[in-house]
Amino acid sequence: MTKQEVLAQISKDIREHTCSLRAGCIQAVPGDGDPEAEVVFIGEGPGKVEDEQGRPFVGPAGKVLEGLLNNIGLRRSDIYITNVVKCRPPENRDPSPSEVAEHAEFLKRELELIKPKLIVLLGRHALHWFMPNEQIGKVRGRAKRQGDKVFFPIYHPAAVLHNPPLMKDLQEDFAKIPILLKKVDELPPVADKSQPNITQSSLFEIK
Ligand code: URA
Repeated sequence: MTKQEVLAQISKDIREHTCSLRAGCIQAVPGDGDPEAEVVFIGEGPGKVEDEQGRPFVGPAGKVLEGLLNNIGLRRSDIYITNVVKCRPPENRDPSPSEVAEHAEFLKRELELIKPKLIVLLGRHALHWFMPNEQIGKVRGRAKRQGDKVFFPIYHPAAVLHNPPLMKDLQEDFAKIPILLKKVDELPPVADKSQPNITQSSLFEIK
């Protein structure tokens, strides 16, 4: 099967799955974009517009994200974008740990297929999926390698809708993405790929 075909199967499984959020939303929202993308963006979960349209980041937060991408010369079609949970929690509340756990296999399959160079974590829910003890305000804007993955936590684009001054931080962090993509190629290889989570953790900053 081609990558595109495997991704189509994952998306179908997402659309057809049952979970405890499914009864309260219109539809499950699979990830969207290029399975060959170098960068994967991970958000929290679908909002109202995403639930209606069945695509991630097509509402107000998506507009902010698209503007930030355009500023660094990227289009939506250049990236892959997905969410920690694929179904909208009622009233946009935070997904619970058990709801996150119910969706975990989908994100694992997406990342295993795409194997991106860089995983951009949008906000605390995506951050906590990989680094449960970190705070977004403390770690944002610094890339971190864990095993064979490189994570780049930043604020969620929806944050600027409530707190417009955060746009400056988001713009600064987005500007690091093209630089990071180049830097990732220069990183030393992971010493032991059978121990991806405990070997060669490194934090690097872009100046
Ligand atoms: N916020 C998210 O985290 N994901 C979406 O798809 C839309 C808004």
